[in-house]
Amino acid sequence: MEKVALITGGGRGIGAATARYLADHGYSVGVNYKQNSETADALVAQLQAQGCRAQAFQADVSVESEVVAMFHELDLHLGKITALVNNAGILQPQMKVVDMSAERINRMLTNNVTSYFLCCREAVKRMALSKGGYGGAIVNVSSVASRVGGAGEYVDYAASKGAVDTLTIGLSLEVAADSIRVNSVRPGFIHTQMHADGGEPDRVKRLAPNIPMKRGGEPDEVAAAIAWLLSDEASYVTGTFVDIAGGR
Ligand code: NAP
Repeated sequence: MEKVALITGGGRGIGAATARYLADHGYSVGVNYKQNSETADALVAQLQAQGCRAQAFQADVSVESEVVAMFHELDLHLGKITALVNNAGILQPQMKVVDMSAERINRMLTNNVTSYFLCCREAVKRMALSKGGYGGAIVNVSSVASRVGGAGEYVDYAASKGAVDTLTIGLSLEVAADSIRVNSVRPGFIHTQMHADGGEPDRVKRLAPNIPMKRGGEPDEVAAAIAWLLSDEASYVTGTFVDIAGGR
């Protein structure tokens, strides 16, 4: 059976590293992006040049109609999904809970939680044995922040990842008999542009001395774990978490 993966927020950072890794391992790859078409298109061109069936799909995954349309396009252009990587996420400027507006909290939850639910729903509809599918695997990109809480910086972000952890556990149980595995990776401090969005581009460098391994992680190190969880090598693994955080 052809392996077809969709990676949300796949144009840069951990998502792009995952797209490259899966392309190298025989998947057709759908690269979702929200606004940065240039990086997504460049990545897709690179994957196609190496012989991978790849396509970019624009959609804001926090918007239900856009998620539904994206999965429809994926069906038409790459075929039935076998692997979903819920990776798109946002970070907002560092702030304490005492200063957070409802608008900020809701933006965080719709982007980091509602989006994962919606994409899981559309993938399950296509993968579930009981709905005529052939099974599949889902990896939700969470964060060690769900364990440590993000105090003084981003408790809203950490709480969104706590919700992702619970989604992973609950959904894995709902769909286990449908031959769908659902797992999470929980990265620690990874070198990507996300930290600039949080207002501190050099955050990983500042915090590296506090990490047991004394360094930040690379997107490729997260991609390898995601790919393993999606693979048949992890065929009896579901409802669990792989922390990629240098011992944190
Ligand atoms: P990144 O470089 O900031 O990339 C995030 C991607 O998500 C961007 O490509 C962006 O697309 C996309 N995105 C954001 N909101 C979206 C939406 N509503 N619809 C579609 N796409 C959307 O981030 P990253 O560091 O690679 O993070 C990837 C995942 O890892 C996130 O879930 C993050 O929470 C998690 N994580 C990261 C770290 C870390 O240290 N970097 C640690 C733990 C967990 P556009 O560019 O098109 O806007």
